[in-house]
Amino acid sequence: MNIIFLGPPGAGKGTQAQRICAALNIPQISTGDMLRRAIADQTPTGLKAKAYMDAGGLVPDDVIIDIVKERLQAPDCAGGYILDGFPRTVPQAEALEGIATIDKVVELDVADEKLIQRISGRRVCLKCGATYHVSLLNGATTCANCGEPLIQREDDKAETVLNRLKSYHSKTAPLVDFYQARGKLVKIDGAGDMDAIFAAILKELQA
Ligand code: ADP
Ligand code: AMP
Repeated sequence: MNIIFLGPPGAGKGTQAQRICAALNIPQISTGDMLRRAIADQTPTGLKAKAYMDAGGLVPDDVIIDIVKERLQAPDCAGGYILDGFPRTVPQAEALEGIATIDKVVELDVADEKLIQRISGRRVCLKCGATYHVSLLNGATTCANCGEPLIQREDDKAETVLNRLKSYHSKTAPLVDFYQARGKLVKIDGAGDMDAIFAAILKELQA
């Protein structure tokens, strides 16, 4: 099954995508993780993307579409995947229609006030993409999966977060109607407990 996780920054897309991918044994394709790795490796794509990301804006469509197109050709995508953070604009969604057939789009719905609280406490592992919240780390500073040091993302600092929410509402939220019109949208309340949300998503995907 080819699945999209849609929702604002901090909605829990990465957290749930990682768990659902492990349960279904399919790859998680996070464009944000791919871009952060490209920046760390100082690749041409990373150098192009950095200024947009630091400002809380979106990386240009042509850059991100090329990255996804190439990634979806890898053999591990043949049995399905979760796209986490792509598409984020209508032109990206239109381009995706020429690249892949999407079966379901899971929208995680969370109010802005809660998103700010979640994002400000987020800590991530750049190596394996695992995501944590500082309130649940009990002082740990390394990744429980792979032992790498955890970091706070540059774009999770307060001054950037409002730009990211703005760009979600103006550029990405229209995708809710886009996929609703195609009969692919499943809306999940993303405000509750992580285990309950995981179970709700899995149930919808297996329906
Ligand atoms: P996204 O990928 O949508 O930007 P993340 O999965 O990185 O969001 O989650 C953002 C932050 O919120 C992380 O710190 C994560 O640990 C935390 N988080 C995710 N889901 C929940 C939840 N259901 N309840 C409380 N905190 C959550
Ligand atoms: P994320 O990890 O999904 O929160 O993404 C972090 C940042 O990467 C975003 O704020 C954007 O700057 C950039 N990014 C990730 N995915 C996309 C995309 N599909 N289109 C444009 N920019 C993206």
